[in-house]
Amino acid sequence: MIWNPVTPAGSLYIWIRVAKKLFLESYGCQMNEADSEVILGVLTKNGYELTDSVSSADVILFNTCAVREHAETRIYGRVSQLSPLKNKNPELVIGICGCMSTHLKEKILDEAPLVDLVVGPDSYRRLPELIEKAVSEPFVDVRLDKYETYADLEPKRESGVRAWVSIMRGCDKFCTFCIVPYVRGRERCLTLPQVLSQVQELADEDYKEIVFLGQTVNSYRDKENGFDFVDLLEKTSQIEGIVRIRFTSPHPIDFDDKTIEVMKNNSKICPQVHLPLQSASDSVLDKMKRRYNLSYYDELLRKFREAIPGIAITTDIIVGFPTETEEDFLKTFDYMQKVKYDSAFMFIYSPRPGAKAFNWGDPIPHAEKVKRLESLIKLQEKITLEIHRKEIGKKTLVLTEGQAKKEKGHLFGKNPQYKTVVFPQDGIKAGEFVTVSIKQATPHTLLGVVE
Ligand code: SF4
Repeated sequence: MIWNPVTPAGSLYIWIRVAKKLFLESYGCQMNEADSEVILGVLTKNGYELTDSVSSADVILFNTCAVREHAETRIYGRVSQLSPLKNKNPELVIGICGCMSTHLKEKILDEAPLVDLVVGPDSYRRLPELIEKAVSEPFVDVRLDKYETYADLEPKRESGVRAWVSIMRGCDKFCTFCIVPYVRGRERCLTLPQVLSQVQELADEDYKEIVFLGQTVNSYRDKENGFDFVDLLEKTSQIEGIVRIRFTSPHPIDFDDKTIEVMKNNSKICPQVHLPLQSASDSVLDKMKRRYNLSYYDELLRKFREAIPGIAITTDIIVGFPTETEEDFLKTFDYMQKVKYDSAFMFIYSPRPGAKAFNWGDPIPHAEKVKRLESLIKLQEKITLEIHRKEIGKKTLVLTEGQAKKEKGHLFGKNPQYKTVVFPQDGIKAGEFVTVSIKQATPHTLLGVVE
């Protein structure tokens, strides 16, 4: 908060409070979105007000991702566009938060001289003082803190229907292609009472759906009180007002039969699971240090489908990992064709300095990687459409979220499988559950009418 003098008729000065304006832009995964809510919580408590215009901002923060090189290049491009604003207002603070900060540290200041502040993901509670410091000289704070969970901070959330709750930070898996353990630190979890108290508050605020977040969310452990992920799911489901529970992103190796059993028997836990495969070749999985082989993964997927009929299964795939041969790639293609995921996030391998696989170079030509990616995308779009078409004529329960973007006069929401369902508006409000009869399907949406 800053104080500005106002001179009314007469000559006395009256001082009024003027909130500083914050422009905050998020990149990358849902964990980063949740971190942006923490940042916003910290700064609004300290007198900042969110603005959606860079030109009116006193502080511009980019909450960044470092998982792919492209994301970092994009941020540099974004910062360079701010030069006229900085010339006009030298006190404007431009800051980089998130994974890119811990990955590149001071190098960001060399690469992007307009940047005043570089803040790592464990330093957000110090943001108000760091911003103050950065007004006079560039400042870097990228210390990782093995105890920081932000459990006591109140995130500032936007949506009133679904709340994303980070239950852990960091990762201990060290997959060879990934820099998350280096840029977000080692795994640490909130205690179960801390999580439950957050969920209770969200229920009191009328949120209907909770999505638990963690880099390997199902490895959650409250070591202090002896609780695990299953306890977390069960106890959360006892909170009145919370109707749906989801979680992302789990690691296949951290699932056990108990988790599948609780998902099967507890109607609040949605029939949806993200099972990141990355590759269907055992030799690539081994080089990626994914800790499972295809037969383990396939058995897990089979158990989910057998226990929870109608479950939606999604995945992540990387093409062009340094050791991936054409034969390895075809194994992934064939497996995806066989298991038919509901949807898949598919990426070209991006070598990241600091990750172990970086030392193995990037031997597969870009054009070949693009070819592999395009063939997977084409395959998956066909499969998703097939799966969606099977929904035509069925009914599904939708939690209404708001106005549909493309279809005028329509609302949208998610069904239990987390599929987007669009339907004509009919006096329904966000937060209401409606049964929708599906009439049409596209690869991305189900369209229907309210029963
Ligand atoms: S499990 Fe592997 S891919 Fe996921 S965040 Fe951890 S190291 Fe990265």
